[in-house]
Amino acid sequence: MKLFDLKGRVALVTGGNGGIGLGMAEGLAEAGAAIAVVGRNQAKGEAAAHKLAAHGVDCAFIAADVAGEAGCRAMVRDTVARFGRLDILVNNAGTNIRKRPEAYDATEWHQVIDTNLSSAFYACQAAYPALCKAGGGKIINIGSMTSIFGVAFAVAYAASKGGIVQLSKSLATAWAKDNIQVNAVLPGWIDTDLTRTARVQVEGLHDRIVARTPAGRWGVPEDLAGVAVFLASPASDFVTGTAIPIDGGYSAQG
Ligand code: NDP
Repeated sequence: MKLFDLKGRVALVTGGNGGIGLGMAEGLAEAGAAIAVVGRNQAKGEAAAHKLAAHGVDCAFIAADVAGEAGCRAMVRDTVARFGRLDILVNNAGTNIRKRPEAYDATEWHQVIDTNLSSAFYACQAAYPALCKAGGGKIINIGSMTSIFGVAFAVAYAASKGGIVQLSKSLATAWAKDNIQVNAVLPGWIDTDLTRTARVQVEGLHDRIVARTPAGRWGVPEDLAGVAVFLASPASDFVTGTAIPIDGGYSAQG
């Protein structure tokens, strides 16, 4: 058994068309996995699939909006139809609305919870039969530092990311019998489109993050490639129900 070899495996990565999702997809493709890149933006998605194909693996963009159950089920169905199987599911697509809790309305709350948390549940449920058929599988759900810490200006986001950890633990216990490992990854502060907006909206954020992070820098999407390969490969067959910070030491700092 080659510990980190993903040849012959098919991975579905939501939000694999940019940021952290693309960083993880690059790792999976380099390890030999075929990749279904899922997102809403067609041009961004096709560019990502083209970039990933440079690793010599089969890649395709599959358009879906994960904020609803129908989109989650359709993306799994379309991936299995296109690639013939599914072995690895990465629930990475996410969004945030930054404002004080008292200013949130119900639509905003649901937009964040549906995109970040409910999507992961629906996608896991939809993928379960295909993963069982493949003889087992790997699910990687993306949390955040807000899975651990509270944030005054991101109440729905933090609730969704806390939920991701408990969802992962519960599915891990339910599906271990099926040889499906379910883990969460908690990125620290990573330079992407999502946080570029935050750096404009939250004064002093950039410098505060650098000062608090023992590694002394913001992360980059490529920093997530290694953990994605580990959690998608036979190297992690006895690892399930965990939540692994990839944060340059941010969460270890008192
Ligand atoms: P980006 O905004 O760069 O990427 C998010 C991706 O999600 C986009 O490619 C977008 O594709 C996709 N997406 C968003 N909403 C939907 C939707 N409704 N349906 C389908 N796809 C969708 O953000 P990041 O790369 O930074 O974030 C990726 C994940 O990592 C998120 O879950 C985020 O919460 C998490 N995270 C990020 C951190 C950071 O510091 N950057 C820190 C901790 C966690 P499209 O535009 O095509 O819809």
